[in-house]
Amino acid sequence: MPTVTHNVKRFSRQLLVSAGVLLVAAVVFVIYVRGEKQIDHANLQRQQSFLLADELRQSSDDLTRMVRMYVLTADPLYKQHYQEILDIRDGKKPRPLDYQKIYWDLVLTDDRRPRPVGEAVPLTAQIQKAGFTADELARLALAKERSDALTRTEFAAMQLMETSLPPVGPYHAEAIRLLHDVPYLQAKADIMGAINQFEQMADQRTQAAVRSAEVNASVLRLVFILLGWLLLALLWSLWRSLNAILGGSVNELYARIIRLGNGDFTAPVPLTPGTENSVLGWLAATQTNLQRIEAAQRASEEKFRLAFEHANAGLFLVGLDGRILKTNARANEMFGYASGELQGKTVNDLSLPEDLTLSPQAMQDLISGRSDHATFEKRYRHKRGHIVYGLVSIALVRDTRRQPDYFISQVQDITQRYEAEERLRISEERLRLLAESARDVVWTMSPQGQMTYVSPSVQKVRGYTPEEVMQQTLAEMQPPESQAFMRGYFSALLADIQAGRQPQTCRGELEYLCKNGATYWAEVIVAPVLNSAGSVVEVVGVSRDIAEHKRYEQELKQAKEATEVANRALQAANAELIHIATTDPLTGVLNRRHFHEIIEIEMARAQRHGQPLSLIMFDIDHFKQVNDTFGHQAGDQVLINLVELTQKNLRIGDYLARWGGEEFVVLLPYCAASEAMNLAERLRDLFAHLTTPGVGTVTASYGVAELQTGERQDDWFKRMDNALYAAKAAGRNAVRLG
Ligand code: GH3
Ligand code: MG
Ligand code: MG
Repeated sequence: MPTVTHNVKRFSRQLLVSAGVLLVAAVVFVIYVRGEKQIDHANLQRQQSFLLADELRQSSDDLTRMVRMYVLTADPLYKQHYQEILDIRDGKKPRPLDYQKIYWDLVLTDDRRPRPVGEAVPLTAQIQKAGFTADELARLALAKERSDALTRTEFAAMQLMETSLPPVGPYHAEAIRLLHDVPYLQAKADIMGAINQFEQMADQRTQAAVRSAEVNASVLRLVFILLGWLLLALLWSLWRSLNAILGGSVNELYARIIRLGNGDFTAPVPLTPGTENSVLGWLAATQTNLQRIEAAQRASEEKFRLAFEHANAGLFLVGLDGRILKTNARANEMFGYASGELQGKTVNDLSLPEDLTLSPQAMQDLISGRSDHATFEKRYRHKRGHIVYGLVSIALVRDTRRQPDYFISQVQDITQRYEAEERLRISEERLRLLAESARDVVWTMSPQGQMTYVSPSVQKVRGYTPEEVMQQTLAEMQPPESQAFMRGYFSALLADIQAGRQPQTCRGELEYLCKNGATYWAEVIVAPVLNSAGSVVEVVGVSRDIAEHKRYEQELKQAKEATEVANRALQAANAELIHIATTDPLTGVLNRRHFHEIIEIEMARAQRHGQPLSLIMFDIDHFKQVNDTFGHQAGDQVLINLVELTQKNLRIGDYLARWGGEEFVVLLPYCAASEAMNLAERLRDLFAHLTTPGVGTVTASYGVAELQTGERQDDWFKRMDNALYAAKAAGRNAVRLG
């Protein structure tokens, strides 16, 4: 594919050739025009030749006519005309205008002239000027000469005339003869012959000149036309080269450039294949580049905006005069101002008076180039009045011409760090005081088990000075069991670190050896101190004397145990009380009072859910006789046996209660009358076959009633009572439904 440079070179060459051809065409055109003029000139000369020859012939003829008229008429006007014709020819009198045209034939006897006169020019002078050849001039001169010679004859004739006035007689006849005889006619013929020869010569010469000029002009015209065609071809080729260079029309290019100039990079530049290497192609590439640059710039601006807006540090854009141009949200928040409120203030408006010189000095250094970056700590006043400590970092932004434009100032709020440092200092002081005065022993130990610090309180509990303790090995400090605990902790610590786990703090009760041979027990808390790489630098421990604590603990334990015993007794007593309050002491089943509470609840439940609920009441037959016969105690045994047997045959959820004396009642939830009847029948049968030692068998009578819908408790019990009564009435040892 030809490059633009190649196209431009070709275009320049073509332009040069075109300019050359145009120049040649212009020259040819000038020559051609001159050639055309030469034709005109040759024609003019030809015409002039004939006119001059004609004038000579005409004057000769006019002279002849005037002299003959004079001789015939003796009118002096003709003589006067004759003389005037001669004078005009000789340049002695002015020539009438257009003298070549008909003149004297129009002058009649009144002597009125058809045209005014011009300059006086002799005919010979005109002939000389006309550029005739020598031969031609010679012919005309000869004719003139002969004409002038003939005037002598004519003057002679006129003189003869004047000597014989009036015009008759021999002189007159002689005059007429002179003007009409053969010599006169011969002289006339000689004059005309010379003129005729001249005309032939001039005709041939001027015709040749005209032809030659015409041929020249034709050749030049052809050359000019050919050059014109060549020029057209060159222009066509130039146009094509220009198009190849531009890659499109000039209008299109102009419109594109205007668009680019207006910053519109969006509309794509349409490229026909092969025009990539053209001005339009470059324009398309430039547009793509500009688009990319614009997008990159937008993205960069957006990044800057986001970074600026969301930076964790307070950011200020500050003008060269120290005025705040823009702040981010963090900066506003840091100093307690609303968005935009800081704009227009100076950096010193926020500064504490003591730190006023810091920012201006740094800015000055940046502008002068003494430094390219400034970092310092500065104190500010928050809008609400308190001090804000800032770590300030200022950089100077320069424009594209490297001239200072504005500053970016970044302020980190280090108030917390300041306060933390202060708190740490106080805390360290406090700790030092504590460590030095308390009974707790604070110590640090290297990972190799070497003591690196121990607080003075160690002397109070172990009798050794801190200096002595610092020299001791683990074995000199602790009995074997406690040493093992410490070694175990160190191993666990190393394992945690190797496995990437968070090293743990440990707590234990350790025994220490005292200087006086005794030991003391301490509760020890040990924590690792790590460096930034995560390695253990040392462990720090606090050992607290727990002799007293242990005593308290023992006392607390004993108190706890005593309380628990008392508690248990109380619970048992409580349970007993509850049992007594709710059960029958002889048989252990529910008493009548408690049974009332239960029946209320069960009645409500059965009625709410529409479930059946039945009652069985039974009474030992002729019990009085049993007592009377076998004694009260035997009677009691019968009661106990009856309850035991009955209880065994009930479901969980059924209730058995002693109603009074030798009467009992069973409450059967979810049990309809038929089921209750079956149960009563079974209980009756079992009891009738139960033998009480020393008594034998005893029977009982059973009354059954199911609670009816909406029935009151009294009515329900009444029906049950009636059933029991019916069983008794039927002869006892029977079951009846109420
Ligand atoms: P019936 O068949 O009509 O029921 O005749 P009965 O003798 O059983 O009836 P009665 O009501 O006349 O007698 C009840 C007796 O139960 C009277 C009393 O001595 C006896 N009794 C009541 N409570 C106890 C008790 O706790 N122990 C003993 N051993 N007897 C009791
Ligand atoms: Mg009875
Ligand atoms: Mg009874």
